[in-house]
Formats: sequence, C-alpha cells, structure tokens
Amino acid sequence: MTDSAPVDLHCHSTASDGTARPAEVVRLASDAGLSALALTDHDTVAGVAEAAGEAARLGLDFLPGIELSCSFPRPGTLHLLGYGVDPASPALLKLIDEQTRAREVRNRLIVERLNGLGLDVSWDEVLEEAGAGRGENDETRDGGTRNDGTRDNATRDDAARGGGATIGRPHLAAVLVRKGLVASARQAFDRYLGGAGGAYVDTNRLSADRAIAAVRAAGGVASLAHPLLLRRQTPQQLEAMVRELAEQGLEAIETIHSGHDADTVARLTRLADRLDLLTTGGSDFHGSAKPGIRIGRPAGREVPRGFYDRLLHCLRRRRETHRGRPADAPTPAVVADRPGRAGPPSAGQPLQPWQQGSVMNRS
Ligand code: AMP
Ligand code: FE
Ligand code: FE
Ligand code: ZN
Repeated sequence: MTDSAPVDLHCHSTASDGTARPAEVVRLASDAGLSALALTDHDTVAGVAEAAGEAARLGLDFLPGIELSCSFPRPGTLHLLGYGVDPASPALLKLIDEQTRAREVRNRLIVERLNGLGLDVSWDEVLEEAGAGRGENDETRDGGTRNDGTRDNATRDDAARGGGATIGRPHLAAVLVRKGLVASARQAFDRYLGGAGGAYVDTNRLSADRAIAAVRAAGGVASLAHPLLLRRQTPQQLEAMVRELAEQGLEAIETIHSGHDADTVARLTRLADRLDLLTTGGSDFHGSAKPGIRIGRPAGREVPRGFYDRLLHCLRRRRETHRGRPADAPTPAVVADRPGRAGPPSAGQPLQPWQQGSVMNRS
C-alpha cells in the first residue's frame, strides 16, 4: 500500500445494512490494496470506533463518516454523506437519535403492512436479523447471534458510543428471503418494500439543510451521495438541486459510485467543477447484501487518492480557520480511544491524518 493507492469513501458495515463488521470492512480495504477508507453507515456512527482502531493497526488512513437519509419526494432518494465528522458531536448524535426513532416507527409500520398483506413476519424477526453478527466477538453476520436485551436497552447503550446500529429495509428484505416469502431481496423491494411496493412507508422528516448543518456542526464535509438517485428528470433540474444544496453548505458530490457509468462520472465531474464542489467516490460496499459490489472497485473503476487528500485538506483548513475562535469553533473531531467509548486519542495511539492540525500537501 502506498500513499497514491486508491481509496473507498463509501462503505457500509453491520452497524447498518452491511454484512461485514466494521473491522472486517477495514481489513477488506487493506487486502484490496487501498490507502484510505471512510465508513459511511446509514444514520449511525456506531461502527466508527471499531473501524478507526483496526485502520490504525493496519496503517490505513481512515475518515469517520455517515450517510444520512433525508426526506425527498418519491421516486427520488436523497442521501447525504458526512466526512470527518466528530462521532461524539452532540448536534450529530441528536439527529442520529431522531432518525433512529423515526426508523423504528416506520419499520414497525412496514411490518404491520406486510402482515396486512398476509405475510407472516414479526418485529422480533427483524431485530434478530439486524442484530445478528453484532456480538463483541463475532466476525461475521452469519456466524453471529444477537446481543440480548431489548432494542431499547441496546439503543441506550449504543447511544453512549455514537448512536445505535441502524435497522432498515434491507433487514426486512432479508427476513422475507430467509422465510421463503420472496425469491430475492430484489423481489422483496419490487413487490413490497420499494417506493412502488405494497408495504412502502416513508416517515423520513429530516430535511437536507438540517442534515448538512449537523455534518458541519460536527466538523465534517457534506457530500451528495449517488446524485442520480435524486431522479431529477433533466441535467438542468439536477444542477438546480445541487446548487440549492450547495447554498445550504454542501461542499462535495459523489462522482464515482458503483451505479455510475463512465458517462455519468464525466457529467458529474463537470458539474462539480462548474459549482466549485469537491468530488467524492466509493463503492457503496454492503458485503454479501450486495454481492455484485467489490470494495474499492465501484463499477470496476478506482477512486483516486486525490479525492481523499482534497477532502482532508478541506477538513484541516476548516479546523485551522476555527482555531483561536473557540466561541464559533465546532467540536474538534476526535476518534474513540478504545472501542465503545468516544474521546480524545490516548497518548499511545497514533493520530489519524484527519486529526492532525497541519495541512498536508500531496496533490
Ligand atoms: P432504508 O434506509 O431502510 O430506507 O433502506 C434503504 C437501503 O435499502 C438502501 O441503502 C439500499 O441499501 C437498500 N435498497 C434500496 N432499494 C433497493 C432495491 N431495490 N434492492 C435492494 N436493496 C435496496
Ligand atoms: Fe444500504
Ligand atoms: Fe445511499
Ligand atoms: Zn450507501
């Protein structure tokens, strides 16, 4: 691995709907020869401490991240990536807590609708699916058993370390597949869980501007994930939407992604240039939940190291700008010093590059 090796800035772990534990995601990235990784679980930073620890051990550069689901008119989807966020930021944790609660309400409603359609699925089965593989010593979802205790207790415990694990529709899909009620996750989404499905429920009330503000309050940079999923009809409509988000504090867009062909990458890169936005990229790795996706190889491409370096440059510049202005300063970005507890790095722990104060010029 060298400093010029490619990176992956969009990955999911068992802290949300991925199937590999956070440390395992880091090991896969290292095995793939990547030089840096960002963990971006849906609506949680619960996996960040574990991933940061493993990255430090393996000498991989690591950025704590998150992917926030925002409200957006159907059939579009608006996901915001936050990079370099402080996993202990009160503003971010408050928002995560709200998202967790809203998700639970929605997920239970989906189960009710599935039941109404005659499908035998219970909330406990969904919890079991989402919790499998999250035990302290389990390496994989398949080999794992659920930590016991109620979801409420789990949520409270997890909240102390940066949000609980996120439960989403992929877990519901997995239950339907496991019980033989559908042939595949795809069929589960097509028939029941997707925007046009019979059990679809959307209760997401998080506005994009609030999500962007929380990412920035947590010291992070906000990037628009997979912009095509906004499903704007024309390039002009997409540009207008991205401009609006940029006015709200968006600083980057995801150009390279497993769902983007060469044409899309080129088009989004030009859009980023026009609007003076940074570019981010990643595979959107979910482990065996999305078997077609390889870590570090979005649609067969590589994400250049420069994407990570420019992001880091931006994060550091921000921290320097805020230095000496404590009243305005966001909470400084810190990483957990040991698993399960967010706090400043301990003396023996090397600082991750994004934690250091000086601007590093690699270009
Ligand atoms: P949620 O956050 O609960 O709304 O679930 C959204 C997640 O479901 C996305 O991040 C994807 O990982 C997954 N997903 C969405 N649509 C599909 C689909 N048609 N097939 C498989 N997975 C999907
Ligand atoms: Fe996902
Ligand atoms: Fe997404
Ligand atoms: Zn994602």
